[in-house]
Amino acid sequence: EKLTSADAINLEDQYGAHNYHPLPVVLNRGEGVYVWDVEGKKYYDFLSAYSAVNQGHCHPKIIGAMIEQAQALTLTSRAFYNDKLGIYEEYITKYFGFDKVLPMNTGAEAVETALKICRKWAYEKKGIPENEAQIIVCDGNFHGRTTTIISFSNDENARKNFGPYTAGFIKIAYDDLEALEKAITSSKNIAGFLVEPIQGEAGVYVPSEDYLAKAKALCKANNVLFIADEVQTGIARTGSLLAVCGNCTCENQCEKQSSYVTPDVLILGKAVSGGVYPVSAVLANNDIMNVIKPGQHGSTFGGNPIAAAVAMAALEVVSEEHLAQNARRLGKIFRTELAKYIETSNIATLVRGKGLLNAIVINDTEDSDTAWNICMKLAENGLLAKPTHGNIIRFAPPLVMTETQLSDCVSIIISTLKQFEK
Ligand code: PMP
Repeated sequence: EKLTSADAINLEDQYGAHNYHPLPVVLNRGEGVYVWDVEGKKYYDFLSAYSAVNQGHCHPKIIGAMIEQAQALTLTSRAFYNDKLGIYEEYITKYFGFDKVLPMNTGAEAVETALKICRKWAYEKKGIPENEAQIIVCDGNFHGRTTTIISFSNDENARKNFGPYTAGFIKIAYDDLEALEKAITSSKNIAGFLVEPIQGEAGVYVPSEDYLAKAKALCKANNVLFIADEVQTGIARTGSLLAVCGNCTCENQCEKQSSYVTPDVLILGKAVSGGVYPVSAVLANNDIMNVIKPGQHGSTFGGNPIAAAVAMAALEVVSEEHLAQNARRLGKIFRTELAKYIETSNIATLVRGKGLLNAIVINDTEDSDTAWNICMKLAENGLLAKPTHGNIIRFAPPLVMTETQLSDCVSIIISTLKQFEK
């Protein structure tokens, strides 16, 4: 007997822990920019699993690499070497221009890894006493939901009643260089600055043009590690390979661009594997990465042969299909078209973003249901998006979208918003 959407929802509600708040759509197939629900209805995916499926659903090259590897060897743990990991490690470090990579599985795990590296580096290289290292983080941050990460989260729902919290974090305003300078110079024990180059979960906040470069300079001047969390913004999402690449149009990292900022520690996740398999990575140069010695960090699944094969194929797709350029070009069209509509709209007030990581602000309060209701209507009209707040809707389609598909989506979004005009 065929499972209906209602059946699937009932099962998840009854047997699954309530850790997410899903839109009531049950999907069972995806291809490129499209997904289908169990009743066969087709949708444009405008969330891409929170920016993981940048290469499009079920990309044949990535799936092919996964199947081929799954038939040969799936997991040995890092107890032994495997024939795929070193090849992938060489590829990803050269791709992003670092000496070394530490492979993990999820974004939050990679953030935890980066924090550990930073603390150990502070102890060994800066002489900060054990237990004294401080890491600066930003208001509105989202880095995951582990115990340490929620210790400095702004999301009260994710944080409250989960204490006691991990110490050693100083929170400052985002996009505020004065606050950063004050915090960096406030103590000898500042080890790092952890920042999202664009804040995704907060509602797609793009900082001022020179913020990242100047923040990096402040870090450098004070011997503090600049740690970029590109879990959501990386892998071509914002129209360059990394959001820290600024306005660089080349496909790979290019330090010649004046707006390029080299992080000391780079955190990647999500689209490293095209959303096909949990793969995350922390990249840094030897002087930083070598503070981690055998036995001090690791994970059974981190760097497994499937992860290595899948991530390598997924990164090749990003270059071969010019996804950064496409995201940049389509992003401009998207914001221009939405901005035109917003001029005369009384329901949408602002569109912002970079590349294909964008959001619109709805004319209602943060705790309203309006954005949710609009997303329900968008789903009815064949497009899946999710609010980040009651009045903000994020739009992040797969980067393999064509201009024709994008125009179709813009029409769906605008006609849906019109249904909510007051
Ligand atoms: N960092 C950022 C910037 C993110 O957006 C996310 C996920 N939305 C994470 C970390 C956590 O990644 P994961 O869900 O894979 O743990």
